[in-house]
Amino acid sequence: MGFATRAIHAGQEPDPLTGAVNVPIYLTSTYAQEEIGKHKGYEYSRVSNPTRDALEVNMAALEGGTSAHVFASGMAAITALITMLRTGDHVICGENVYGGTPRMFNQIATRYGIEFSYVDTSDPENVRRAIRPTTRLVHIETPTNPLMTITDIRAVADVCHEQGVELSVDNTFLTPYFQRPIEFGADIVMHSTTKFLNGHSDGLGGVLVGTKPEHKETFAFVQKCTGGILSPFECYLILRGVKTLAVRMKQHDESGRKVAEYLAAHPKVSRVYYPGLASHPQHALAQQQASGFGSMIAFETGSLANANAMLKRVKVCTLGESLGGVETLISHPATMTHAAIGEEMRAKLGITDGLVRISVGIEDVEDILADLDQALAAIS
Ligand SMILES: *Cc1c(COP(=O)(O)O)cnc(C)c1O
Repeated sequence: MGFATRAIHAGQEPDPLTGAVNVPIYLTSTYAQEEIGKHKGYEYSRVSNPTRDALEVNMAALEGGTSAHVFASGMAAITALITMLRTGDHVICGENVYGGTPRMFNQIATRYGIEFSYVDTSDPENVRRAIRPTTRLVHIETPTNPLMTITDIRAVADVCHEQGVELSVDNTFLTPYFQRPIEFGADIVMHSTTKFLNGHSDGLGGVLVGTKPEHKETFAFVQKCTGGILSPFECYLILRGVKTLAVRMKQHDESGRKVAEYLAAHPKVSRVYYPGLASHPQHALAQQQASGFGSMIAFETGSLANANAMLKRVKVCTLGESLGGVETLISHPATMTHAAIGEEMRAKLGITDGLVRISVGIEDVEDILADLDQALAAIS
């Protein structure tokens, strides 16, 4: 079955009790049991809930994994991932990932004796060099946030597997509609479903998609033990969002390309970061492992004053954190998503004070372009 068909039907058989076409929101904490030890497969909603089950089956089907477990947010999913590890274990993480990821790793996980190295994973040799006897996990994002650097998933997976290390990929930016890391050897796929999967900026969520029986066992056990599960209502929102993922992503991609081309030609914009531009240094690799480029773009306005001048003026675009909604969201990484990593790290990565990130929505693209045009005119 094709992607759009799976998005609409996987895990979403009509309700056996009533025939309801939509998966009902099972708002229940507990389930009646017939006698001691005899029940319908559900005992308590921290452990399992039919609405959550439907979403988890759907997520595993879209990414091509064998199991999926959903959590209260993307960060809760990353935290669950780290609970697979023990004191003394070592993790290699891409150096340019979502800012909250290294914050959790460095300020919480290190307290439990887990060690982290940050490397530029766009060169798989950097990963090879960083592997230690204690390395258990490599965690990457491709494209990266916000500079849209691509990592060769297959090459990094090969390096990992030679050394018995697992690879997890945060696939939030492209979604399984455009990129399925498991097909390139990733062991685990992670998402903030808050973004494109849900797509309507109305709920948080996170997911871990696994490929091995121990992933299923471990992540189900983590849900039960730590309780950072996703509520039935938010599971429903994501199921609803995912039904239109294919059509939304097509439009995000089409408009993303137009906005990137517009920005690349604009005299006030000195640089555009978008893998869909032929000028992107990894344009060919992006085409190899993904079937589209999405709608995340970063661009250089030259200074904090220039960025602020334009960001104050936007009207169709909304200035705010987050991404992946139907509405165009625009943000300033240095003071927003990447404030926590510090000035020194930002300078090392190239996240300047003039850098602006845009998540192109699915409004009429002419309106988005006109809005950017009038906002960029504010730069002197
Ligand atoms: C937003 C985001 C996260 C964190 O997810 P939350 O749902 O906000 O907790 C992780 N990774 C990426 C790439 C993100 O964009």
